[in-house]
Amino acid sequence: MINTTIPDNKGSFKQPDIFGYYGKFGGAYIPEMLHRNVEELRDNYLKLMYEESFQKEFHALLKDYAGRPTPLFFAERLSEQYKTKIYLKREDLNHTGAHKINNAIGQVLLAQRLGKKRIIAETGAGQHGVATATVCALKGLECIVYMGEVDMERQQPNVARMEMLGAKVMPATSGSKTLKDATNEAIRDWINNPNNTHYVIGSVVGPHPYPDMVARFQSVISEEIKNQLPEKEGTTYPTRVMACVGGGSNAAGAFYHFLDDPSVQLIAVEAAGCGINSGMSAATTQLGKTGILHGSKSLVMQTTDGQVVEPHSISAGLDYPGIGPLHAHLYESGRAKFLSATDTDALKAAFNLARKEGIIPALESAHALAALEQLQFNQHEVTVICLSGRGDKDLSTYMKVMGNIKNV
Ligand SMILES: *Cc1c(COP(=O)(O)O)cnc(C)c1O
Repeated sequence: MINTTIPDNKGSFKQPDIFGYYGKFGGAYIPEMLHRNVEELRDNYLKLMYEESFQKEFHALLKDYAGRPTPLFFAERLSEQYKTKIYLKREDLNHTGAHKINNAIGQVLLAQRLGKKRIIAETGAGQHGVATATVCALKGLECIVYMGEVDMERQQPNVARMEMLGAKVMPATSGSKTLKDATNEAIRDWINNPNNTHYVIGSVVGPHPYPDMVARFQSVISEEIKNQLPEKEGTTYPTRVMACVGGGSNAAGAFYHFLDDPSVQLIAVEAAGCGINSGMSAATTQLGKTGILHGSKSLVMQTTDGQVVEPHSISAGLDYPGIGPLHAHLYESGRAKFLSATDTDALKAAFNLARKEGIIPALESAHALAALEQLQFNQHEVTVICLSGRGDKDLSTYMKVMGNIKNV
């Protein structure tokens, strides 16, 4: 472990302390063999990502390749339904269909500046793998994506996408053959290839500096909201910002520039699956205890003897037994409010948005929409919801329930 002491972190919510702690969560709990790689990244990421040439290339690709800035859309009929003002931050309109491309572009550019020629990633549903394979194709870098064998079977179209983009998809065949096994394989690869390889982590999880680095790359979401809101509402500050949380990267990006403005309510929405106490859930703040997962200390769903519990959510992107350390801190400190939505709530909210606004959301994003049901509004309040991705990838799930959802 790089460090075991937990210094005070009295500063801004935006920034972990020098050891990577947000409150008591974070750090870098990694095997000895990874120290060199992680230290190289830790010592260089801030310097490299704030160089003028980096910022120029990053923002040019966000604009001309990913399609940013994404619109901030006033959802008129949804607003009428809840008798308030609701805006959607349209991350679904990004190239590859979600916010994940923001981070993939950032990390691949960083890897290039570190002289790395080979990119590895892990993926569960395949969304992060597709985003990483996309940017590697763009930059002509070798790309290896580890994916659980079971997930490869379940997410065939994304496997095909990655392969068409020139990435090699490596099946993880141990354990439950899902995301955590893919993560183990990726870490093993990184240990074996320390000099030429960068490991692109897809959310605000992992050892320091990943949570901070990914949050900074995704912070473009709230930077844009702050720029877009004044012309629509005459203010930079919404009443609240809402986002779904798997590992927490779209939420971190949507919250980032509001973290230190306590007047802005932050609402994170976790996946309750079949219900928080059903044994089939992914509501980490409700069910988790402090533990170590994927290299950092955070809230983790685990048994009393510390075995990680297999989570469940209808949305593959929220089907994760932990949350990033920033979010664990936002939860414990009370800075953000954590709600949850069940599979059924999310399905209803997805159909509602499709019928009311002509937008088919990703199942993940539908959890954030579903939480509207749990809030009280007044008509002058301004709520911004991060619509993290589009629903094309979820159509087969939507088709299965089409006849049963009668919400509108
Ligand atoms: C991956 C994904 C998520 C969950 O990841 P976060 O890191 O919590 O943002 C949410 N929405 C979509 C569309 C995704 O692809």
